[in-house]
Amino acid sequence: MEAETQKIVIIGGGIAGMTTAFYLQKNIHERNLPMEIKLVEASHRLGGKMQTVIRDGFTIERGPDSFLARKTSMIRLAKEVGMEHQLVPNATGKSFVLANEELHSMPGGSIMGIPTEIGPFITTGLFSIPGKLRAALDFILPRSESEKDQALGGFFRRRLGNEVVENLIEPLLSGIYAGDIDQMSLMSTFPQFYEVEQKYRSLILGMKKAAPVQPKKPENNDKKNGGFLTFKTGLQSFAEAIEAKLNPDSILKGHRVEKITKTNKGYEIYLNNGETLFAHCIVAATPHKITQSMFSQYSFFDPFKSVPATSVATVALAFPKEAIQHDIDGTGFVVSRNSDYSITACTWTHKKWLHSAPEGKALLRCYVGRAGDETIVDLSDDQITKIVLDDLKKTMDITMNPDFVVVSRWKNSMPQYTVGHKQRLETINKHLKEELPGVFLAGASYGGVGVPDCIDQGEAAVKAVLDFLNE
Ligand code: FAD
Repeated sequence: MEAETQKIVIIGGGIAGMTTAFYLQKNIHERNLPMEIKLVEASHRLGGKMQTVIRDGFTIERGPDSFLARKTSMIRLAKEVGMEHQLVPNATGKSFVLANEELHSMPGGSIMGIPTEIGPFITTGLFSIPGKLRAALDFILPRSESEKDQALGGFFRRRLGNEVVENLIEPLLSGIYAGDIDQMSLMSTFPQFYEVEQKYRSLILGMKKAAPVQPKKPENNDKKNGGFLTFKTGLQSFAEAIEAKLNPDSILKGHRVEKITKTNKGYEIYLNNGETLFAHCIVAATPHKITQSMFSQYSFFDPFKSVPATSVATVALAFPKEAIQHDIDGTGFVVSRNSDYSITACTWTHKKWLHSAPEGKALLRCYVGRAGDETIVDLSDDQITKIVLDDLKKTMDITMNPDFVVVSRWKNSMPQYTVGHKQRLETINKHLKEELPGVFLAGASYGGVGVPDCIDQGEAAVKAVLDFLNE
């Protein structure tokens, strides 16, 4: 007798869901498994936040623009779908912090804002003398006592003082999470800092010892490669390459999952068009609030209701190069909250990603919106553009209007790993195992926000599904 075909439904066609679908399909084909997959996506396209605009020779990322090269799962997937030849590294240059209305070079030797070289830290104008003296207390302060989670802000404020946190660490970290550093979980974002403190006591000395030895700088090479990669053809082309490898019959676009109920054989999945799908196994690769609403009858998901997700917008401005008179030799800056600016960061994209703008053109990409400061995202394109241009003109002499502007709003898009995130997730996963066996979570709301982290979670979901189905 033939084994019953096991049905697996993956909900959400962002990178987490696509990775799950891709590697499940690969396993099914290679091992001839009696399984069938369906990837259900609410919108009419796959890729989720990976979206690229190609216009007039510019390659403009609306959402993520690159990934950390040392996170290898992304490169592995790129190879699987024949995209490795499109990978390009970033060109490096100076980066800056805008604090107290002035641009300051990032102090040399700082790792995520933690000084590891004394010279540049003493000479930088980014901190006052009392601020520097307060940071030096790190050399003598004892370790954190608690093994429990704590706020990222509290941890750094205790070790290095408020000024270093506000002028350097917060602007850098909030660039990744758009979050409130005083609510973010140390253990779910940067547990390595806690480990360094536990091992070496002083963060500054510990980071210095733990930091990889920097290769000697080659002379006259200010365009050396950095630690990030992207696809020359845009991140959307990566999503398209994955999609092209998926069986078209396994993809259901333009269908939103509204509700999921458990039956004695598996799960009924209710779609917005009134149809239902049956699954033995489900991977919910959806943002946490959507996951909670799909399973709203299960109260163990309720803690997700109070986990914030910040709204941000990216604003890409294309200029002729000569429009920017007072150019700055660097690749961009982040903005401290103590500066009177609305933008939170600006990348000189044409300098960081040489393929992103045609000859003679400049591309600036700014961010607006962060935890506690999100209303700007709801303004019109024209209003946002005016605010961004006014800010840019304070640091650069911009003499012409942009050729065009691409504003991309990302409402409730940046999940906030607040204190207790790991514990909360563990509890929910434990309930899932007991009450909804065969349902797994993957994606930015859960085990890491970066694109490669979402790929890792897709890979882990494949393993969990195969283990569950005993394959
Ligand atoms: P998503 O991409 O959000 O996909 C979820 C999918 O689920 C969506 O397609 C959605 O339509 C679908 N969906 C939702 N509800 C339903 C439903 N009910 N039924 C069916 N489908 C549903 N990361 C980096 O590594 N590098 C960067 O440079 C970077 N920059 C970023 C810049 C911005 C502006 C943003 C917003 C994020 C950035 N990130 C970056 C983070 C990264 O892009 C995301 O964390 C990652 O892409 C999320 O992937 P995902 O699959 O978890 O979710």
